[in-house]
Amino acid sequence: PNSPIVLLEDVGKSYGNINALRGVSLAVRQGEITCVLGDNGAGKSTLIKIIAGLHDYTSGRMSVNGEERHFSSPRESLDSGIATVYQDLALAPLMSVWRNFFLGNEITRGPFRQLDAAKMKRIAEEELTKMGISIPDLEQPVGKLSGGQRQCVAIARAIHFGAKVLILDEPTAALGVNQSGVVLKYIVKARDAGIGVIFITHNPHHAYLVGNHFVVLKLGRVALDTHRSQITLEQLTTEMAGGSE
Ligand code: ATP
Repeated sequence: PNSPIVLLEDVGKSYGNINALRGVSLAVRQGEITCVLGDNGAGKSTLIKIIAGLHDYTSGRMSVNGEERHFSSPRESLDSGIATVYQDLALAPLMSVWRNFFLGNEITRGPFRQLDAAKMKRIAEEELTKMGISIPDLEQPVGKLSGGQRQCVAIARAIHFGAKVLILDEPTAALGVNQSGVVLKYIVKARDAGIGVIFITHNPHHAYLVGNHFVVLKLGRVALDTHRSQITLEQLTTEMAGGSE
């Protein structure tokens, strides 16, 4: 059975007397895209921050591979195989594509410290090609790539460093139709490579194009938790637009 890699049970988070999350349950499984939808203020960012190790939760339980966890830093989340790609991507725009691929603190502690530039470039190229991303010139500054390509580089980097769970924070929010398509295709590849993807979005169309599992947050609560076979795009859109009760 495909037991959840990350499991939230009845998780709450308050900031002083603001309850940003109330009794949220969520299961993230290998090889599935779990879409978390919700309007501004619904609690999506708070949810990400808990799983990514930026905030602790104030009630309930979070477990990773069956073990209860309270992360006290992003490093702990990363060390548990959870990588987060934020909207700003944390890429260095003036640095080459291949150097960006190795950017991040993994490089300072991992085996890659020993590699020379030519080897690193080759690895970046292989990884990107393997995932179907074609970027002709890896020496160009990453800032010259399209928004969609930059997203793909940031995701490929996370996968390369061994992420088992990938949190994607509104990866298509700033992109046009074509670029969104590029990124959505790539998210499917990550899923098919066995990764458990948490796809945060407020776009039901994008969610429905790729998602296996949909969770809609409203005012910090789970308003809907369902699987693809149980909902149509129209129903999902209606849920997002204000609910159908
Ligand atoms: P957005 O898409 O705008 O980021 P969101 O769904 O991610 O929205 P959150 O950012 O998680 O929502 O916010 C949920 C609630 O918690 C909101 O009412 C917000 O004002 C509140 N909140 C978030 N962060 C803090 C904080 N650090 N201190 C106090 N209140 C906060």
